Amino acid sequence: MNKKDYYEVLGVSKTASQDEIKSAFRKLAKKYHPDVSKEENAAEKFKECQEAYAVLSDENKRKQYDQYGHSAFTNSQGGFSGFDGFDFGSMDDIFGDIFRNFGFGSSSSSRSRSRRQDGSDLLYRMTISFEEAVNGSKRDIKIEVEDECPDCHGQGGFNSHTCSECKGSGTVTRQQSTIFGSFLSKTTCPHCNGTGTSFERVCTSCRGKGTVKQNKTLTVTIPKGVDTGNRLRLAGKGEAGTNGGLPGDLYIEFTVKEDDFYQRDGNDIYIVVPLTITEAVLGCKKMIPTVYGNVELSIPEGTKNSSKLRLKGKGIDSEVNNKKGDMYVIIDVVIPSKLSRKQKELFKELSETDLDDDSKFTKYNKRLKR
Ligand SMILES: [Zn+2]
Ligand SMILES: [Zn+2]
Repeated sequence: MNKKDYYEVLGVSKTASQDEIKSAFRKLAKKYHPDVSKEENAAEKFKECQEAYAVLSDENKRKQYDQYGHSAFTNSQGGFSGFDGFDFGSMDDIFGDIFRNFGFGSSSSSRSRSRRQDGSDLLYRMTISFEEAVNGSKRDIKIEVEDECPDCHGQGGFNSHTCSECKGSGTVTRQQSTIFGSFLSKTTCPHCNGTGTSFERVCTSCRGKGTVKQNKTLTVTIPKGVDTGNRLRLAGKGEAGTNGGLPGDLYIEFTVKEDDFYQRDGNDIYIVVPLTITEAVLGCKKMIPTVYGNVELSIPEGTKNSSKLRLKGKGIDSEVNNKKGDMYVIIDVVIPSKLSRKQKELFKELSETDLDDDSKFTKYNKRLKR
């Protein structure tokens, strides 16, 4: 960036006294003040003058500038850093209020206060049991939320009327007398903070903000079938908006605890059912504890270990995706490790019959005999 020489900017000589510098700056500031100047690029020129004055009016900075030029105030990013530590408070002494009008004062914060702002969304993490996920449930939760002030009903005060100061426009034009003469400047109305309405009495509970932090208890209806990671959106239950802004949403994010018996895969439920060898060999009728109560399942004879049998429609009936899952029964044939004398005799007797006429045995035995 090609910067103009500061002395040139202010139109003073390199040997100018502080009084000359100050006087030159006053003249230029008056000429280029953005509120009154008709000049082209007035704001830019005004800033240029300010920058030059900030450096040259400070003896230390001026010395640095004389020695190193603009590079004395250029930081590593190439930006100007000469204003670091420059005290705008002292400017106020010279110019009074006029600097407030372009962002150096506190007007920016009051401006944002008057802006319509939607409330933020909130996220609440909820851990539920497997049963609650399957059957759905209701739960009360406590949240701390920025909500509409109950005392003033979000208005920020009482007995509102059109602001008498600004006649409802939110801005006031003020005439200010300064050493340059008088300026007319537009500012955010300090009386109503730019909202255009003011109150006979500002609400003390929310200090006029219209919202307060509140501990709220909400009843959440957990839909049937929620799974870990599912989010439920409660529209409008987030933080309240301000100045007529819309409230945010509350999201409930679920974590479903693992059950030590039922395993879940989407809407399907898996369970492991132990069978005795005789049940597996002879087949049987077995009671299966589904999530909807006990159901009788016919186990066909000759059921192998790890077989998977289906109970249609006995999975999760989900309100999340409107689908109904199945239940899968995984067979676990339990080989007895302790046998009574009687049982042992029966097994011996059984082993003398030809149990190994399955093709698997034939194939195996062929290898042995070769
Ligand atoms: Zn006003
Ligand atoms: Zn209030």
